[in-house]
Amino acid sequence: MLKSEELERYQRQILIIGKDGQKLLKQKKVLQVGLGGLGSPLSLYLVSSGIGELIVFENDSLSLSNLGRQILYNTDDVNKSKGDLAKSYLTKLNPNTKITLIKERFTEKSAENYLKNTQIDYLVDASDNFQTKFLINDIGLKYNIPFTIAGIQGFDGQLISVDPHETACYRCIFGDIPKTDKSKPIPVMSPTCGVVGSLEANEVLKGLLKRGKRITDNLLMISLDSGDFTLIPIKKNPRCGC
Ligand SMILES: [Zn+2]
Repeated sequence: MLKSEELERYQRQILIIGKDGQKLLKQKKVLQVGLGGLGSPLSLYLVSSGIGELIVFENDSLSLSNLGRQILYNTDDVNKSKGDLAKSYLTKLNPNTKITLIKERFTEKSAENYLKNTQIDYLVDASDNFQTKFLINDIGLKYNIPFTIAGIQGFDGQLISVDPHETACYRCIFGDIPKTDKSKPIPVMSPTCGVVGSLEANEVLKGLLKRGKRITDNLLMISLDSGDFTLIPIKKNPRCGC
């Protein structure tokens, strides 16, 4: 049942997905990894859309240089725990969504500790490193959870959604973790985070509602410098084993 407060809160969205769609979202649990540049808009839209529970892995504290793109936080918050800040803000934004904060890095061990006892409906990447993106791919495949992975650099973004064992996975395209120089910060324009994080939220909602067409068996390449959005078809790689 939706309370009258919820009917009013989600009024515009119910015009599209109906009360049944809204009730369905209320039953869904989403696991999000990271609460930074991508994770800020992603969590804001997932929570304002009225999913039942958002589980987030985040163990960093806020630094001043985060504020150039991480729109969940403000200047008074520097040095505080990003997880605590996000939980407080998102709970105020929509008290109907349960926020579960896991103050740990997303590792194989911490992921499995959580997932062995809890079933989730969708897994979504908002990390800033390849190691975590590949791990999200592997965990999604292992536990048969649909997932979305995205990356950003400069004015560019890329995004793929995966239905485990049905559509091409992240490893089908990228093989194994590339070597990167972790000592250098990744350059990024602030709005790139907003565009790509919002697209991820949209992929999650379509996946939960089983409507529309997610970006599966395609890699979406975005250049906000030129304005190009390009879908590159990809196939399952027989050598991948996914
Ligand atoms: Zn694969």
